[in-house]
Amino acid sequence: MRLILVGPPGAGKGTQAVHLAEHYQIPHISTGDIFRANLQNGTALGLKAKSYMDKGELVPDSLTNEMVKDRLAKDDAKSGFLLDGFPRNVSQAEVLNAMLAESGVLLDAALELSLDNEEIVKRLSIRGRDDDREEIIRRRLEVYSEQTAPIISFYRDANLLVTIAATGEISDITAAAIAALSKKLS
Ligand code: AMP
Repeated sequence: MRLILVGPPGAGKGTQAVHLAEHYQIPHISTGDIFRANLQNGTALGLKAKSYMDKGELVPDSLTNEMVKDRLAKDDAKSGFLLDGFPRNVSQAEVLNAMLAESGVLLDAALELSLDNEEIVKRLSIRGRDDDREEIIRRRLEVYSEQTAPIISFYRDANLLVTIAATGEISDITAAAIAALSKKLS
């Protein structure tokens, strides 16, 4: 299974990614987690990424794409992966296509977790991560609708999009995702 997860900040991508990666026995690759780990370890990449993350902006593609390429080249990602937080814009989606084409593999699906704006703001304001302050939340939502949301049409046009509602119990959302994915792939 080669899967990407798309959805606004606060849709629960990270939580669902953990459950889905476990279900499909594939590595969960979160670009946000990799940036945060780099920051914690004080790497140059981490320091560069921080200035963008703190503002709610996307880290430049030049840093992000290389990092993903390295991660996907590792052995555990050879037979499948779940990408969480990448691609984040159409250009990254095109780069991902090219990376996969180079390895002669295809994406199976793009899973969209959909959530309305009111619910997003409510959830983010109680999460309390460093980049969850109100003005940053607002910027991250703008960045999502301006830069990330267009990848939904990109994957719809490629006939890879599977959309589920990201509301309700965590386990019910996971079950709905698995059901929708198996229907799509059958
Ligand atoms: P996340 O944990 O996915 O919410 O990501 C946290 C932050 O990391 C984002 O707000 C961006 O600043 C940065 N980030 C994560 N993934 C990407 C990506 N694919 N492209 C650019 N920036 C990213």
